[in-house]
Amino acid sequence: MGALFLLLSYLLSLSASFSTHSIALATAAAAADLTRPSSTPINRDLYHSSDALFEQIRSLVHRHPDKLTVETIRAGNKGYKSEITVVTYCHSRKDNDDKSKFRILLSFGQHGRELITSELALRILSILSEEQFLPKMDRASLNGILENVVIKVVPMENLNGRKLVEAGNLCERRNGRGVDLNRNWSVDWGKKEKDYDPYEENPGIAPFSEPETQIMRNLAISFDPHIWVTVHSGMEALFMPYDHKNITPNGLPSKRMRLLLEELNNVHCQKRCMIGSGGGSVGYLAHGTATDYMYDVVRVPMSFTFEIYGDSTATTKDCFKMFNPVDHTTFTRVLNDWAAAFFTIFKLGPGQIDAQSKAGVPKVDKWVSIDEYFDGYLMGRRNRYGKKMEVLEVGMQEIRTYFRLFLLSSVLLLFMFCSRISKTRRQIVSAIPV
Ligand SMILES: [Zn+2]
Repeated sequence: MGALFLLLSYLLSLSASFSTHSIALATAAAAADLTRPSSTPINRDLYHSSDALFEQIRSLVHRHPDKLTVETIRAGNKGYKSEITVVTYCHSRKDNDDKSKFRILLSFGQHGRELITSELALRILSILSEEQFLPKMDRASLNGILENVVIKVVPMENLNGRKLVEAGNLCERRNGRGVDLNRNWSVDWGKKEKDYDPYEENPGIAPFSEPETQIMRNLAISFDPHIWVTVHSGMEALFMPYDHKNITPNGLPSKRMRLLLEELNNVHCQKRCMIGSGGGSVGYLAHGTATDYMYDVVRVPMSFTFEIYGDSTATTKDCFKMFNPVDHTTFTRVLNDWAAAFFTIFKLGPGQIDAQSKAGVPKVDKWVSIDEYFDGYLMGRRNRYGKKMEVLEVGMQEIRTYFRLFLLSSVLLLFMFCSRISKTRRQIVSAIPV
């Protein structure tokens, strides 16, 4: 009976999350109305608009069809639409899908206000296409390594959020409908710490409720990278898993990740960068993050979150200054240092892991949640039937809701049935004369 109560309260909490979400959204919407003043505007001499940045990227790809390709993936639900542009670097383009190559997936601009990260994406693509160069870079030996590497770059994961920032809401980090895309993944989703900020960290109504997160998950699962890096700003740090607990994973993969991060810190961050688990180093735990999902579920052996710049002297309302360099010298220094750090990863990464087998990540037996079951089921179906099954993605949340309601009503019926039996028994007992 105790187990029944536990199950009942779990299901009730699940259904309650749907109603509390609308309250959270209302609060977030109210908060969004209070336009936060920002003393420093976007420096348009240094930073591209999102349109100009994609224009630059498209012309770069057009000039280097031998190395670069670009695709735009669209998704949406409940009237909300989003798109993510993915640029693929591959030495000889025909080998784009060659699974024998070492694969690296990089994502920038997951939070709208962190504009500097998307500028870094453009810089890395310019260097990869040999239109720009890094000082002290031996291009010949690098090209030898890059022949066996495929790099996918997402320059702006959160285009809708970025548009809100460009329209003047300089503190916006969430997507176009108020969800934090780095809380919307399924590992430990929805757990709230004592200092949980419903405005900043809204995880959405369910794991993968947001089209941006769905696109990124599908991209990661199909590409199956050896290295994942999500690039942020707000501080200087090199994080490895986990974000949702204050420990790092055990064993060889963890040691390998830490060694690479220490090298990057020594060579490119002048030892200023914080290193360790996101949850252990940053001072708060984060639940439902992309990096924890990449490590735990996609089993990317080297999964990282980089924080490339932060101005701790900026006031909390001065978001552009807090998250982005505002002068030319710092802007250039940050792009050069971090572009060099990424080319160190391109050089050292392939030597760390065998491209054929992604050996090293421990297989962990874990409970599969209803969400993950449906995700896996629908992903499999879609792979088999191609784009025709795309519509299932939209209906996934609805299926989950109906399934939960079905479970909830079954348990309630069972509960009523059990209590009726126990009442009947009591009557029989009391009818017997003592
Ligand atoms: Zn961020």
